Amino acid sequence: MKNFSYRNATQIHFGQGQIAKLRDEIPADARVLIAYGGGSIKRNGVLAQVHAALEGITSFEFAGIEPNPHFETLMDAVALTRREKITFILAVGGGSVIDGAKFIAAAAVYRNDPWEIIQTYGAKVTQALPLGSVLTLAATGSEMNNGSVITRAATQDKLFFHSDHVYPKFSILDPSTTYSLPARQTGNGVVDSFVHVVEQYVTYPVNAKVQDRFAEGLLLNLLEDGPKALAKPEDYAVRANLMWTATMALNGLLSTGVPADWATHMIGQEITGLYGLDHAQTLAIVQPAVWMHTREAKKAKLLQYAERVWDLVDGDDDTRITTAIEKTRQFFEAMGVKTRLSDYGLDAAVIPAVVAKLEQHGHVRLGEHANITPADAASILALAL
Ligand code: NAP
Ligand code: FE
Repeated sequence: MKNFSYRNATQIHFGQGQIAKLRDEIPADARVLIAYGGGSIKRNGVLAQVHAALEGITSFEFAGIEPNPHFETLMDAVALTRREKITFILAVGGGSVIDGAKFIAAAAVYRNDPWEIIQTYGAKVTQALPLGSVLTLAATGSEMNNGSVITRAATQDKLFFHSDHVYPKFSILDPSTTYSLPARQTGNGVVDSFVHVVEQYVTYPVNAKVQDRFAEGLLLNLLEDGPKALAKPEDYAVRANLMWTATMALNGLLSTGVPADWATHMIGQEITGLYGLDHAQTLAIVQPAVWMHTREAKKAKLLQYAERVWDLVDGDDDTRITTAIEKTRQFFEAMGVKTRLSDYGLDAAVIPAVVAKLEQHGHVRLGEHANITPADAASILALAL
């Protein structure tokens, strides 16, 4: 196992009825900005629960944070935050709203052009307004991590930043808020969580038994409960397991002491930036292709994955790896997320465009060995056509 330091600053309140805890978490004299998306929280009653919990506390609303949140939209929220002297940002929604709230919190108190926050991957963030979240979509782990992914629509740049200053102070995870998710977003969430786990698990062995067994447990949960959530959207136990699995998949615990890949996310982000596919759609396209391309370097962990997650013990090494990759693809498809570029009307023309963006963003040495070059990314995309 590699050396590591680990701390997670986010308080979690998990379970039905926990939105009422907002009252204990947000100071009575706060000026709160409630940030949200396109209105799902109005239709499913979550916004009403938030207002009930915040009764008597001064609050403002900023609506319209889109999926893959735009820098341009968020800068309007930054202006409102400054104008109204907001002291607390409350994100109510999925990963896009929480990521957006992290940017608002950092940008509102940033002295120079806030785009620098993203350009420097968060390195220049020295402070942020406090933020909290009410999560409504199990997927990204943003509710319990220090990352945020922002898109500059004008230039089609989708980039992430990290800063410990933007850990949510608290996140409220009420699984019943996810009953209203469209099947597409339930499927997306399961695929995103799945890929978060394997990005930190299918690399090379470092004898990290805790992390490996933990990763395998999370993957088995997703295989078991993902399809159940599609079949029965209002099953509380299933939604609860999926919600906590998604949080655990990317709250820093799995990555302690192990190498991490992230090539799928880096290549996928460029596809969303350019063509607007959902985050999980890009992952479902790129993940199997990354494994096909790197199967020799990942051999030991792919075999472990094949055996412990898919019970594949018969046949030679190559057959078991091929079958495990194919089963992974079938699982994504079963969750309603297509796994080929052509399924989304994209063809080989995307390859040079995505590669050019990777180069522009300096993402030229990807993967756990930092050896996936733009030429490798082109081969990976060719495998994903
Ligand atoms: P999302 O983009 O936040 O939301 C997708 C859609 O789901 C929106 O249309 C939203 O509608 C709807 N929705 C959310 N909750 C709902 C509910 N309970 N009922 C009905 N509809 C609901 O999806 P996401 O997958 O959570 O976030 C994706 C973003 O997170 C991407 O930009 C991705 O790159 C990023 N990401 C971040 C991290 C990280 O660590 N920070 C990790 C992975 C991915 P409304 O707009 O109307 O609410
Ligand atoms: Fe993700």
